[in-house]
Parts: sequence; C-alpha cells; structure tokens
Amino acid sequence: TTSPASPYPYRLRLPGPISIPERIRQATARPIINHRGPEMRVVLEEIQRLIQPLFGTTAPVLTFGASGTGVMEASLVNVLAPGEKVLALAHGQFGDRYAQIARALGAEVDVIESEWGWAPDPAVVAAKLATANYRALITVHNESSTGAVTDLSALGALLRDRETLFLVDSVSGLAGMELRQDEWGVDIIVTGSQKALMCPPGLGFASVSEKARKVIERDDRCPRFYLDMRKALATVDKHETAFTCPVSLLFGMQEALRAIHEEGLGQVFARHKRLSDALRAGCVALGLPAFGDPAAASRTVVVASVPEPLTGGAIVKHMYETYNTVIAGARNKLSGRVVRIGTMGQISEADILTDLHYLELSLTALGHKVPSPGCGVTAAIASLR
Ligand code: PLP
Repeated sequence: TTSPASPYPYRLRLPGPISIPERIRQATARPIINHRGPEMRVVLEEIQRLIQPLFGTTAPVLTFGASGTGVMEASLVNVLAPGEKVLALAHGQFGDRYAQIARALGAEVDVIESEWGWAPDPAVVAAKLATANYRALITVHNESSTGAVTDLSALGALLRDRETLFLVDSVSGLAGMELRQDEWGVDIIVTGSQKALMCPPGLGFASVSEKARKVIERDDRCPRFYLDMRKALATVDKHETAFTCPVSLLFGMQEALRAIHEEGLGQVFARHKRLSDALRAGCVALGLPAFGDPAAASRTVVVASVPEPLTGGAIVKHMYETYNTVIAGARNKLSGRVVRIGTMGQISEADILTDLHYLELSLTALGHKVPSPGCGVTAAIASLR
C-alpha cells in the first residue's frame, strides 16, 4: 500500500494488527471451501497440531470468529457464575479490560492494581489469594500498553493446589514469546490472529485445561451461546467448529503456522528478543528511555518514554504524515507519554533500523536534539552484534 501523496511505502509498525507476510496474505485469498467438509477438517487438524506447541499445551485449542476481546470474554463467561469472585491483576490497559469484562458478567472482582510498566508481584498475589475463595485469577501475559511481561510460571505455582482457575490473555505475546501452559499450570490462554500469529484480525483462540473443562461443563455458569465452549469442545476433536468458521482467515493461519514451524519455534522466539532488544537500545540512544522495568521487557512491543515537551501523539503523527510509517501512541493514562512499536511477526533487522532512522528524523523535525546523528541506528546495530 502506498499513499499517492507519499514517496514512502506504507509501513504498518503497530503492536498489532501487523503487516501480513505475502505467503500468508495469498493463502487468505484461496477459494472458499465447504466449511464442514473433509478439506476444512484437514485445515483445522493441521492448525490444531501446529498451534498447540505455541501455547505449550496438549489440551484442546478452540477456534472462534472473534477478536482478542471476544475470546477474553469467552474465557470468563464459560467459567463464572454471577456473584463469584475473581482476582484481577491490573497493571495496564488490557488488565483493566479483563477486569471490566468479569464485572460486566456479574462477578465480584477484586483488583490488585500495580504500577504500569512493571509485572505483577507474585508475593502480593499469594497474600490476596489467601483471603478469599476465587473462581479465577486473571492476568495479561504481555501488556501491550506498557510492554511488561508477567511471570506466569510464578503465578501458576500459587494455584496448583487450589480450585481457582488461572486465565491468561496472551493476545500480544503468543508466538512471539514462549508459553508453557501445561508446565506453568495455566488453565485458559486466549490469543488473537492479528499479532505475532501474523494473520488479519478476526480469529481468536482459547486453550482449555482439563481443570477448566470441568468448570466449563457445569450448567450453572453464566448464560452463554455463541461463545459457549461446551459447543466448541464437542466439535474440536472432530476438527469442526460449532458455527461457520472464518474460512479465509483459517487458510492464512494454516500458512502462518507452517512458516513459524519452518523457521523453528526457538529461532522465532530468539529473533523477537534480539530485534526488540535492539530497537529498545536504539530508542534509548535517541533519548527515548524504555518505559517500565527492564527485567520485564516485552519481546513483541517496544514501549519508549517520550521526554517533555515532546508528545507521543506528535511523533506518531509525524512518522505517519512524513514517512508513511504507522506506530502507536497510547489511548489511556499514558497518552502523550509513550510511543509503542511492534516487534512481532516476520520482521527483520531492516525493519527496526528503518524505524530508528525515521524516528530520528521525526524527533529532530519536532525540535528534539538527538545526541549525535545516526546514534539510534548505531546503538541498534551494536545490540544486534
Ligand atoms: N489484550 C491485549 C494484550 C491486546 O494487546 C489486545 C489488543 O491490542 C487485546 C487484548 C484486545 O484484542 P482485540 O483488539 O483483538 O479485541
């Protein structure tokens, strides 16, 4: 896509949706097939087999025609009954949203608020879990709004001998960072197609542990229909979906998962880390310090603090209007204070070096003095080495 007004090619550098690799984009253009026929079952079987290692599970992974928020709701509506207690960890915009959904479903929600940019503290969670009988602990694996990664292994260990279910939003983490659902004791992980899974928006996935399944099968849960996981669980082993599946998106997902496995999971995760570290180093060199705790730094999104009097909005606008490059600011209490750039999917050194080049030019045009010309790119190259 090239805007007629710009000599620069369109660059989608958001932390999702992301630019779709050509082989995946072409797969989505295949002719539609019978959504319940044998050809579709072959596609769904392959997706199931290839996606389970990304969750780190052998449990069923359910497919929904829904965005990430849709599967967040699915994870809750299937395990909660109105009035039950939920413990929500809120350290960013999506943690807040998870809590809001639980409240909307009639749950009594206790929230552990913690500083944005930092991961939730397992010791604080342990103390709170001891105070009540929670149906679910809910958290966000990769807080796209702040760039902080939650220690799921430490939190899962707190729930091993409890009835409390552990529900995790990994909409922007899965496929860019390792998940070990079974080993870490996570009961449901939800994700979306438009982030590190490199597909267009519109597909949601939810993996369901045996412990979660026992609760989901109960008739006394919230009223549910389209998102009813009992229907999805009844069809998943036959490689069918309860309702008409988004056939084209599933063609894309099949191709995306093939690409991920061809590269190798270890290699994919290492590449995300290497490129996010380098982009972060480049931003720091340009005078945009990394937001939050470096020990919890995301590998799929770089969140950089914006020094006053600059604003995130001005940088985002300049990058788009001048360089046809779409990065994100914030639509929450960090509005103006950060910029966010995606480092998920099939990106390369060239992508992040171009980001830093345009970022330097934009910052300079906006009156910010960078320490020396080319310092962002130079720092990133040093990090890549
Ligand atoms: N959770 C996280 C961590 C996200 O990054 C997003 C989207 O940016 C969502 C949930 C919501 O997903 P969607 O916009 O697909 O509903």
